[in-house]
Amino acid sequence: MEIKIFKGKDFYKAVSYKSENLKLWIVIHSTKLGPALGGCRMLKVDNSFSALKHVALLSKAMTYKNAVVDLPFGGGKTLIYDWNPNVPRETLLLEFSNLLNSLKGEYMTADDVNTSVKDMEFMRNYTPYARGVYYKGTQIPATSYGVCMAIKAAAKEVLHTDSLDNINIFIQGLGKVGYNFAKMLRAENANVYVYDINKDIMNKCIEELDCIPSDPNGMFSNKIDILSPCALGNTINDDTVHMFKAKVIAGGANNQLQSRKLDNVLFDRGITYIPDFLCNSGGVIDVDCEGINYCPDYVYKRVGIIYDKSTDFLKKAKENKTSVLTVAEDYVLNKLK
Ligand code: NAD
Repeated sequence: MEIKIFKGKDFYKAVSYKSENLKLWIVIHSTKLGPALGGCRMLKVDNSFSALKHVALLSKAMTYKNAVVDLPFGGGKTLIYDWNPNVPRETLLLEFSNLLNSLKGEYMTADDVNTSVKDMEFMRNYTPYARGVYYKGTQIPATSYGVCMAIKAAAKEVLHTDSLDNINIFIQGLGKVGYNFAKMLRAENANVYVYDINKDIMNKCIEELDCIPSDPNGMFSNKIDILSPCALGNTINDDTVHMFKAKVIAGGANNQLQSRKLDNVLFDRGITYIPDFLCNSGGVIDVDCEGINYCPDYVYKRVGIIYDKSTDFLKKAKENKTSVLTVAEDYVLNKLK
């Protein structure tokens, strides 16, 4: 087993761990506001350098996500980029738990792509630094609810309406976040246009929720008031940025902008973009609420901060003739000073 620790100009600390069973990076972007919190992703990546680049970006996003909603956490993330498929999953998780213990609480993990709440429950027997363990099995769709809060704030400030009734919303990606979000929007009588590469899940939304089927180009339609990217990243890229006609973009996906400069293009085109790290911070607020007294009503109340922050940032952006992303970044950077 080999553990190496690096300091970097883009992060506070990166831990490289390699054993016969497991290869991973933990990147701790910042501990300025508290121990770093961010999920553990399991994805095969060809080489250690690409894995580090991938996880360093995600780790920075975690710092912003935790700080923007005033959580007492820094940002960090783990990427398990290679593992031995012939050993039981428990063996891998136990090794990871021991590594977390050796960091003495500087970094806390949670479930993410290809890791589950069940994995965290298992790890919790070996380390207090596995978070997102929900007592009585009552995990709620906090991320989706948070996206809903951001959309409601944008509807009020940009579309000048208190109600989502008859507002045309396009959801790209109907997984854990997108599906529950669609359900919440339909309960508010929004017209929900949906597209997912997975036809089964799309049909489920059409049949169960009476959503309107669309195709990938539907998100560029001038009928759409609000576009909500809830799939994987990079929906807003050099090819698409000039094609959107929605007035607002706000969704649950991480890394929606392929590059920071695309926010300027959206701003110049009069499109309000609510930053992904604000829209999807419901999940980390939920993690902060975990514990023996975990109570869904309390979590929903706390996730309501996304409405307040979005409203505040939208107003400041209008006053200062700048983008919401610029205002949100300034807020975070001030906290990190
Ligand atoms: P998921 O894997 O459950 O769902 C993703 C969905 O997107 C899948 O149904 C997939 O088929 C679909 N998809 C993939 N590529 C697509 C494309 N090009 N066009 C349309 N659909 C496509 O993931 P999730 O947990 O719902 O997360 C969605 C996004 O939200 C991710 O970017 C994730 O990082 C982010 N996020 C999730 C959480 C959470 O609580 N789950 C929290 C914060 C951020």
